[in-house]
Amino acid sequence: MKKATEDAFAGKNIRLTTMRILIYEYLETVTAALSLSDIEKFFHKADKVTIYRTLQTFQEKGLVHKITDENVVKYKLCAETCAEENHNDRHLHFYCKNCKETTCREEIIFPESMDNQLQIDEIQILAKGICDKCLRLSL
Ligand SMILES: [Zn+2]
Ligand SMILES: [Zn+2]
Ligand SMILES: [Zn+2]
Repeated sequence: MKKATEDAFAGKNIRLTTMRILIYEYLETVTAALSLSDIEKFFHKADKVTIYRTLQTFQEKGLVHKITDENVVKYKLCAETCAEENHNDRHLHFYCKNCKETTCREEIIFPESMDNQLQIDEIQILAKGICDKCLRLSL
């Protein structure tokens, strides 16, 4: 286990278990968001219920956020500012129709000015198109 993993878990009050460490460190190496079946495929020997529960715990504790695109739920690690019951993932997500990857676009943030007028529990902003990687390949 990396020191950074230990710190991330301690910062969000998550108890260390082998499976949690493995899933966290896997999510960290991937730039795109991953679906439950992507993660299950990678840990094909692991118990599926454990994987699912691990992701649920991560979400509750503010370690990962969910993104829904094309009816598939995907998971991506959160910024440090997210906390238990208090996610701060107000950024745009981009779904590429070509490679099917969903990425976080932190440079586009939903304005906080709306918070005075509305009670916002969850924000889902999704743009679809062709990502920069695929565009470069098609040139
Ligand atoms: Zn979050
Ligand atoms: Zn793409
Ligand atoms: Zn995101």
